[in-house]
Amino acid sequence: MIRYVCDRCQREIADRESRFVVKILVEPGDELQPLTEEDMDEDNLHSISETLKDLESQGVESLELSRPVQHRFDLCEECRSHFLQDPLGSTSAEQLDFSEN
Ligand SMILES: [Zn+2]
Repeated sequence: MIRYVCDRCQREIADRESRFVVKILVEPGDELQPLTEEDMDEDNLHSISETLKDLESQGVESLELSRPVQHRFDLCEECRSHFLQDPLGSTSAEQLDFSEN
């Protein structure tokens, strides 16, 4: 039997209780340009190496930022209403301590 624990209050959610799932997707607002076959033409290899140099100079962080990240949380009913009132935890940041798992 799968047991669910509320990710906000760390309380176990009993079978008879309602369980709510929060999914948060964080991705860049602007579409990233994927490499196409055209980019692989020799003529473009130079510009690609330039792009790679740019990425290097910007550091790994920019690559990390371009990657979509999805978080999934289980919430009990009480925490659901708390979450909906303040999804970003801006007014109660110390109460919202989501761990990454
Ligand atoms: Zn809870």
